[in-house]
Amino acid sequence: MLNIGRNYVVVDRRKFLAGAAALVATGLLSKNAFALAEQYWFEQGAYTVTVVSDGELVLPLAVFPDANPEELAKLLGEMAKDNNFHAQANPILLESDADTILIDTGSGSGYQPTAGKVIESLKLADVEAEAVTKVIFTHAHPDHCWGTVGADGKLIFPNASFFMAETEWNFWTAKDLASKMPSAMEGMVKGTQAQLAALDGKIKLFKPGAEVVPGIIAIDTAGHTPGHVSFELAGDDGLIITGDAIINPNVFFAHPEWKFAYDADSDTAVKNRRKLLEMASEGKKRLLGFHWPYPGVGHVEEGGEGKYRYVPV
Ligand SMILES: [Zn+2]
Repeated sequence: MLNIGRNYVVVDRRKFLAGAAALVATGLLSKNAFALAEQYWFEQGAYTVTVVSDGELVLPLAVFPDANPEELAKLLGEMAKDNNFHAQANPILLESDADTILIDTGSGSGYQPTAGKVIESLKLADVEAEAVTKVIFTHAHPDHCWGTVGADGKLIFPNASFFMAETEWNFWTAKDLASKMPSAMEGMVKGTQAQLAALDGKIKLFKPGAEVVPGIIAIDTAGHTPGHVSFELAGDDGLIITGDAIINPNVFFAHPEWKFAYDADSDTAVKNRRKLLEMASEGKKRLLGFHWPYPGVGHVEEGGEGKYRYVPV
């Protein structure tokens, strides 16, 4: 009963989940197995989209330098704890008949102890690391790409081909990058370069506007990093996988103009954040954010005066 192949899940996951619920109710299937059903998933065009989890990141509240503390506390709610911002980290699994695609590999074991859980989360979706055929990156910050190479130096997704925006790849792989960055960022630069070095010769580079794989188009959302991209998935009115163009929906829908401390170029980041919000609002597209409260899928409503409201699913 538990030996359910991936294709079965892709083709008929809805039926499986309904069946699983019934089996849990009768005690024939453990609740643990049913955790699969609690991962948020939906159909979008040719893909089954599952929001997997890499765990959580703990960042200082100072990452929102323009916010006044009382308003920030209200906007973040339970995400503000012990004077820190607790942000989820949610890579995306896209399954079609042809491919098993992961958008971003998460933090791996070298970043924060609360993150690096994506392999367990994929297992709950009945996907082993070996089954992933393509990995597509939004950008090369640690929480998005340090889950590419294991502590043993081997690729964690050994059968995948890898995709990154050309500008992003060229920025991070420049040999003299560490010497050009503040010394506090040296560890991050070296860590990222070690991950990307393992992809040399394997990576496929693309430009914004390209259809990276069938039904998935890259959108230029530079600013957070020099080559940051978001992705639009065809189907219905469209789904935009934002990456880190909008770090938090409560904060940046209400204040798209606020800076985020980890944006490399704040002005460009604000411009592209507004572009995504306009695109989503005018086209009634859904947005899916990497660090948003799980599952991080929702609509955008115009709030007037350049502000927006988040309507989560
Ligand atoms: Zn991030």
